[in-house]
Amino acid sequence: VPGSLVAAWKARVAKNPEGTALRFFDGALSAREVDVASDALAAAFEARGTGRGDRVGVYLQNVPQYALVLLALWKLGATALGLNPMYRRQELRRIIDDSGAVGVVCADADVHETLGTLAGSTVRWLISTSALDYQSRNDPRVFATTERLAPAPDGDLVALIGAYEGRGPSLMEPTRDDVAFLTYTSGTTGPPKGAMNTHGNVLSVVATCASWMGVSDGDVVFAMAPLFHITGAVVNGTISLLTDTTLVLAGRFHPGVAVEAFAEHGVTYTIGSITAYNAIYELPQAGPQHFASAKALYSGGAPIPPATVERFQERFGVYLHNGYGMTETTSAIIAVPPGSRAPVHLPSGTLSVGKPLPHLMARVVDLHGDPVPSGEQGELELSGPQVVPGYWGKPEATRHTMPEGRLRTGDVAVIDEEGWVYLVDRLKDQINVSGYKVWPREVEDALYEHPSVLEAAVVGQPDAYRGETVVAYVSLKAGLNATAEELIAFSRDRLAAYKCPRTIHFLADLPKTQSGKIRRAELRRLDGLGPV
Ligand code: ATP
Ligand code: MG
Repeated sequence: VPGSLVAAWKARVAKNPEGTALRFFDGALSAREVDVASDALAAAFEARGTGRGDRVGVYLQNVPQYALVLLALWKLGATALGLNPMYRRQELRRIIDDSGAVGVVCADADVHETLGTLAGSTVRWLISTSALDYQSRNDPRVFATTERLAPAPDGDLVALIGAYEGRGPSLMEPTRDDVAFLTYTSGTTGPPKGAMNTHGNVLSVVATCASWMGVSDGDVVFAMAPLFHITGAVVNGTISLLTDTTLVLAGRFHPGVAVEAFAEHGVTYTIGSITAYNAIYELPQAGPQHFASAKALYSGGAPIPPATVERFQERFGVYLHNGYGMTETTSAIIAVPPGSRAPVHLPSGTLSVGKPLPHLMARVVDLHGDPVPSGEQGELELSGPQVVPGYWGKPEATRHTMPEGRLRTGDVAVIDEEGWVYLVDRLKDQINVSGYKVWPREVEDALYEHPSVLEAAVVGQPDAYRGETVVAYVSLKAGLNATAEELIAFSRDRLAAYKCPRTIHFLADLPKTQSGKIRRAELRRLDGLGPV
């Protein structure tokens, strides 16, 4: 077993150096080319004073440069800090300051935004790159002339690869405890925290996911989830880099581009948010022909209503496998094995997120931390080589969330006798209606069964009489209608009266995190918003 991601990468290169590692539209790079280019880039970073333990921001969409930067940083024992390209100055600056990043790689188009953010920060260098550099050429050294902005960044990434060609970083081998990714949580329940995903964490998740999800040599992996998020980083990006497979990168997610990439490159495996699959489902031109090569499609990070899986299968002939993970578990650690179908929990109707992957210890505990019998609800607690050693610079939060390495997920779950895990909901999101406990998920799943409903989110709102009352926010499928009365009646057919929404607000789009999670906290703040 290799001790670091660099050793695992080197083993992949040695196995099949000429195999295509990265594909970007009509451009492609072999494993050997990626190795040489990332060596040069590592030398360029090192020349800027960057080394072991340093954090470097990667403020890019899913472009091939992302993979080169990751490998270059790991070769120095440095840490990749994923920065959401949607972030603007204030959000960026908060993470830069929290992490103490020493450098940033950004897209040419974002140079102004980035420079405006960095003045007076810990960042000492900025390298920019053009998304066009790899779009229509095979040679990474062919430099697309883009207009240089003033003040100019320290250098252009592709030009630097040319300038440092044949050089490499001073020899160093990261250990399992070096931090490969510093990944901020989605910020669904509070301010994002930086989880320290070590080489050991990532190796463990990549190895178990590759065998569990059936990713093997010759596969074509589509980078559907954004690479700055843990799922994109580990179970799209790194899993492909460390196996003899091709990683297809298509920039920022776009459903039309995604289905074309699936068909053109014969994509066999991907994992992405349910929002992304919903966007594909909504595309009139998408059909089974786009998924002809698909062996394993996974969705994770947010609840999947059973109805969504069914209609996706009906339309495209492919089954969406559920997967559960957290930033703190270095992404997917509970998942539905290929060939299996996730059972639905009765009576709640919740789709199972799968079974724990090898080496993960999963148990359900009560308020005192004692295990409950199988089939009973409690908080999901996890431990294993996938769980991060802590949050960056937050010893308090680390002690609270992962006492003695046991991760308290904040998720309520049930594990049945066969080991299937069902996620009930987030502990914090439980609604209390006149003393009755309501889990928003169950109500949402009922609403999703309505043919007009595209997305639904349920929250509790303070109510002088009941304590809390159930409110639903709904977006409808294009061209379809439903009234609030109709949806309330629909849910009354399926749920006890106290669980049914009393009010339904229609929104064109529900607020989500960049990783595709509906932000119930934000909806709670929308109190008083009338139907639109
Ligand atoms: P924050 O911790 O900052 O509030 P977050 O918990 O949403 O944000 P992530 O680490 O990206 O940040 O998400 C992990 C959470 O996502 C889990 O705790 C769980 O609630 C939810 N989740 C992940 N996978 C699934 C799934 N397959 N089904 C339902 N929920 C899921
Ligand atoms: Mg969380």
